[in-house]
Amino acid sequence: MTAGKVYSLETFGLVDGPGVRFVIFLQGCRMRCQYCHNPDTWKLSGGTAWEARELFCRAWQYRSYWRNNGGITVSGGEPLLQMEFVTELFRLAREKGVHTALDTAGQPFSREESFPEPFRRLLEVTDLVLLDLKAMDSGLHRQLTGWDNAPSLDLARYLSDQGMPLWIRHVLVPGLTDSREELEQLEAFVGELPTVERVEILPYHTLGVGKWAELGIPYPLAGVRPPTEEEAEAAQRYLSAAVRPAQGRIEACPARHAGAEAKRKPAWKFQGRLHCFFRKTML
Ligand code: SF4
Repeated sequence: MTAGKVYSLETFGLVDGPGVRFVIFLQGCRMRCQYCHNPDTWKLSGGTAWEARELFCRAWQYRSYWRNNGGITVSGGEPLLQMEFVTELFRLAREKGVHTALDTAGQPFSREESFPEPFRRLLEVTDLVLLDLKAMDSGLHRQLTGWDNAPSLDLARYLSDQGMPLWIRHVLVPGLTDSREELEQLEAFVGELPTVERVEILPYHTLGVGKWAELGIPYPLAGVRPPTEEEAEAAQRYLSAAVRPAQGRIEACPARHAGAEAKRKPAWKFQGRLHCFFRKTML
C-alpha cells in the first residue's frame, strides 16, 4: 500500500478529460510556472495522506456521474512524482472499468535509469494522458517554468510511440506563449504525434494571484492581461489543423479504449473559461 499526498479533490470536474471526472490534485511539483494558480501545491511534503483504495472508494461514490466516458483524472502538482500511488489507484479503477486520465506537465520524465519501468506499469492502467506543453522555445520554457522543455517534448514523443491517446494543453499568455513562432512550433510538433486527439488552449487567468500573495511570493506576471476570448479562439482554431482525429491509438489497443472514439467529445470545443470557473475543491 502506498499513501498518496493529495492537495485537493474535485467531485464534478468538467474540463480535465472526457465526461464528468472525479479529479485528484496531488501535492508536489518541481516546476515553477509563472502563472501557476496553485503555488501551494509546489511543496513536495504536505498534502493530505490517502491510501489508494480509500481514495478510490471515495471516488466510486460519484460513479453515477461517469456516463459518456467520464471517470477519474489525476492531476497536480505533478502526478509523475507519485507514480506508484497513481498506478495503484488506476489499477483499482481499471478493475471496475473506470476510465483513467493522467494530467502531467512531463517534467520528471526520463528514459534513463529507474523511470521507465514504473512508468510503463502506470501506462498499462492509463487510458488518456493530458500533457501540458508550456512553451516550445526552450529559453522561454526555462523563463516560464524554471526547467527545460526537453523532458516534456520527449514524453510526448514517447507516449505517441506507445500509442497512448493524448490531449495537448497550452496556456495562452499574451506576450509570452501566444507568439506566431510559438504557435507555429506547437502546431508542427502536434502534427508529428499521431495519437493526439485534441489540443486545448487554456487562456491565462489571474485567479491564483491571491495565493502568491498569501505565500509571500512576488507574482512574476503582474500586469499581464488574460487573452481575449477572440484571441484564445483564434489560437484554438489555428492549432486545430494539426490534429488528425482519424489517427491515434484506438485501433492499436481496442481492449483498452473500446468505445472511446464513439463517445469522444468534438475536438476543439472551447473550454478555457470553464477551466477557470468550474473547479470545486474539497478534501
Ligand atoms: S506544472 Fe502545474 S502545478 Fe506545477 S508549477 Fe506548473 S502550473 Fe503549477
